[in-house]
Amino acid sequence: MIKDIANLHAKLQILLARQKNLYNQGRVTNYIPALAEVCPKKMAACVATIDGSSVGAGDYQEAFSIQSISKVFGLVMAMNRIGDDLWQRVNMEPSGQPFNSIIQLEWEKGIPRNPVINAGALLVADVLTSHFSASKLAFLSFMRTLAHDDTIFIDNHVYQSELSHGNRNAALAYLMKSFGNIESEIPDVLSHYFTQCSIAMTCEQLATSLLFLANKGVDPITKKVICTPRDAHRVNAILSTSGMYDQSGEFAFSIGLPAKSGVGGGVVAIVPNYGVICTWSPPLNSFGNSVIGTNLLANLAEELGLSIYH
Ligand code: GLN
Repeated sequence: MIKDIANLHAKLQILLARQKNLYNQGRVTNYIPALAEVCPKKMAACVATIDGSSVGAGDYQEAFSIQSISKVFGLVMAMNRIGDDLWQRVNMEPSGQPFNSIIQLEWEKGIPRNPVINAGALLVADVLTSHFSASKLAFLSFMRTLAHDDTIFIDNHVYQSELSHGNRNAALAYLMKSFGNIESEIPDVLSHYFTQCSIAMTCEQLATSLLFLANKGVDPITKKVICTPRDAHRVNAILSTSGMYDQSGEFAFSIGLPAKSGVGGGVVAIVPNYGVICTWSPPLNSFGNSVIGTNLLANLAEELGLSIYH
């Protein structure tokens, strides 16, 4: 499917080189102190396609904190576990607010706008905590299965850092519990959520692990059914409208791919029936999205002619 691997590799290298001096246009996040320790000049891109090939450049084999990209996997696990009941407890609309906003949650009686803002992901974490006997292990094992790599790990340093600076997420979770929309104990929900955010993965592993979303729910390499075609469609729809938070509109307008970012600087974009692109660069813009990661995706999508709106 990648017709000319050498050519794509050269293209990726040129695109990365062009971004080299732009790292100071964003800020490495520091509200989770461990994430501020990462070198701002790290940069990577990887393209994996549903025929099993992958091409990367830069630091694409270096693990980084996946953070909110984990929300995609949590959502798939929760959809698989409780089906349509999930949509009684979380909505599927863009929030128009920052990813960790609390203000809307009270107006909307503890029902998060969507599963990829923090409130929604905490709700999903509650579903996983209450429906799996060992939800953290189940999550890690899901990631390892999808990436075909048993070396994927939880970065305990990041986990501890999030746990000791997690008051805002705790506030979101307690507010939802006050409305009766959280079943488990809050410390358990937070512990699960911080664990999934603290998983470290490379661009190559992330791109590979999301191929099922580009292939109607089926892992194209093992042929294993990961979710139904309908749920793959739904996850992609949510990523198109909300995956880049309050920059999702602009992202759809200028790039046109379902995508998800994380405050570790990673961005993944799904190209249905083609593959997955993952980029990484730690400095973030005001929306919490990687500046260079987003630029790289824009350049690559344009060069390769990839958009779901063509
Ligand atoms: N763990 C982070 C948080 O809860 C994830 C946010 C993100 O990556 N956008 O704040």
